[in-house]
Amino acid sequence: MLHHFIWHYFLVIRYIVEEMLGQGTFGQVAKCWDAETNSYVAVKVIKNQPAFYQQAIMEVSLLSMLNDKFDPDDQHHIVRMLDFFPWKNHLCITFEMLGHNLYELLKKNNLRGLQLQFVRTFSRQILDALIVMKGAGIIHCDLKPENILITPKVNSAAGVKVIDFGSACMEGKTIYSYIQSRYYRSPEVLLGYPYTTAIDMWSFGCIVAELYIGLPLFPGASEYDVLSRMIEIVGGQPPDDLLREAKNTRKFFKHVGSIYPGNEAHDGLCSSYRVLTEDEVEARDSKKPKIGKWYFPRGRLDRLIFAYPWKNLNEGNLPETEKEDCLALVDFLRGLVEFDPNKRWSP
Ligand code: ADP
Ligand code: MG
Repeated sequence: MLHHFIWHYFLVIRYIVEEMLGQGTFGQVAKCWDAETNSYVAVKVIKNQPAFYQQAIMEVSLLSMLNDKFDPDDQHHIVRMLDFFPWKNHLCITFEMLGHNLYELLKKNNLRGLQLQFVRTFSRQILDALIVMKGAGIIHCDLKPENILITPKVNSAAGVKVIDFGSACMEGKTIYSYIQSRYYRSPEVLLGYPYTTAIDMWSFGCIVAELYIGLPLFPGASEYDVLSRMIEIVGGQPPDDLLREAKNTRKFFKHVGSIYPGNEAHDGLCSSYRVLTEDEVEARDSKKPKIGKWYFPRGRLDRLIFAYPWKNLNEGNLPETEKEDCLALVDFLRGLVEFDPNKRWSP
């Protein structure tokens, strides 16, 4: 059937579609047989609208820069781009064929989370990719389990690669303010504050926690819901200087005091903002904040990591070594899901 072929170089059939691998905001990804190289490739067919086309050109240019200049030997867990070509106003990008994404992997495991050894290996590899991206001054802007793929390696250890630079941008040349997928959205992006590569480290923290516990850390049904989950689980809130300058602070916070020295009226207050209560948000939006998609036990970060029911383990019967590992994991996560982008750990 004609529509099962992607024509390349005029009437020479090169890519034969075998199955659809996924689809997102930007287009569809197909597993194709490449008749020229006799191998499978993943072809991302971008929607045929100018805005998507332009953004895809960005994806091509940033990824080819990362591949060729910053990771020429393919050692840093970033997907390889093979080629790109226009087809009927669709930009098509071909990539090396990879395996399932991490969300699919978690689903296969009934959302019970991965063993710590895999969490550790995958985290190290994602960090490796993030170091290269930071070195190149590239912000991924959409790090999430769907955008991290298993590498199919025969007879060797499990591995992952970071994909989907379709939302990526250069640090210092940020254009968009509505970026990152909601669950993985950093506080500075939520609040409308200038952002850096640190936003990827926030998303990375959310991913690491999710790999271990099996469910998203902040599965908020709205931005307010995400933020209030952050405050409840991590503890604390974004620093005052960030709140004072961020564009959207008043969507989420109420000004409760001033930190100007000598202000008697608010004696003793060390914070000048407090997060809105649900009632206040309800009154403002005149509709109830939606309940999260999943029931998710709220609680402190360490309780989530230690006492997760379907690990079949709890604090009481965790083996001593896993207990130490969990302590280290909580410490690690605290460095990542840190509200202050300046204090958040770099890769
Ligand atoms: P979008 O920008 O629309 O999110 P992605 O590049 O993230 O597009 O691709 C969408 C999905 O297609 C991914 O989540 C993944 O499941 C699948 N996919 C993408 N690239 C590959 C690849 N190289 N190998 C295998 N599957 C892929
Ligand atoms: Mg994607």
